Amino acid sequence: MLDAHCHIDLYEDPYETALNAERQQVYTLAVTRLPSHFLQAQIRLRNLRYVRPALGFHPMLVAENFDEINRFKSLLHLTRYIGEVGLDFSSGCDGEKEPQKEAFEHILSLIRGHDKILSIHSRKAEAEVLKLLLYYECRKCIFHWYSGPLSTLREIISNGFYLSINSQMLRTKAGRKIIEATSIDRVLTETDGPFVGTDGHVAQPADVALIEAGLTEIWTMEREKVSQVIMSNLKRLLSTETPVVAAASLAISALP
Ligand code: MN
Repeated sequence: MLDAHCHIDLYEDPYETALNAERQQVYTLAVTRLPSHFLQAQIRLRNLRYVRPALGFHPMLVAENFDEINRFKSLLHLTRYIGEVGLDFSSGCDGEKEPQKEAFEHILSLIRGHDKILSIHSRKAEAEVLKLLLYYECRKCIFHWYSGPLSTLREIISNGFYLSINSQMLRTKAGRKIIEATSIDRVLTETDGPFVGTDGHVAQPADVALIEAGLTEIWTMEREKVSQVIMSNLKRLLSTETPVVAAASLAISALP
């Protein structure tokens, strides 16, 4: 199984959460919100196979931590995984658009030409994020918890980007519409734990099982087949070929 967006470092016991994901063989992208947090995660999780820390700079933390951009740059060579990064133009972030854009463009310019996988935050800034990803030729991107317009979603999909779906999206009408409008070869699963709960408790990476179960209904597909689709999408994303070419040559060795 795959948890493509989990804030392992924000759990009460991060290492125990990571070890559980490891034991349950859930490929987990441990996103971070600041470069200094990534450094901690990188040290603590270095022996794990299924859990990979991602270098992040969360748009909502950019304005008050702008100098961390230098640390982002110095840590970039340590990992293939980037996130959470992006833009947030929701009302709580008024007055932060410019620093957010400056940091995000700086990040994308650093990544340009390198083989990095990105987990992207795009709330209320979906079209702007898409425009920047295309401008900086950033190809291997996962839109995490997409909640924007369907017209922008269609552009996202047609440009070969991925979506990671969480349980909150399955619970809402708007979320289900987004899932239905996404071609199945672009869908990945995420918990966004510990922010998103599942059945009244804090979601653990293995709870992506519930998202797979939800997808069986939407796709009218057996559970085992849903799991296969998600893993094959992951392998395609991770392969170094372009998405179209890679689909024909999936290899288990392409896993992280
Ligand atoms: Mn998040």
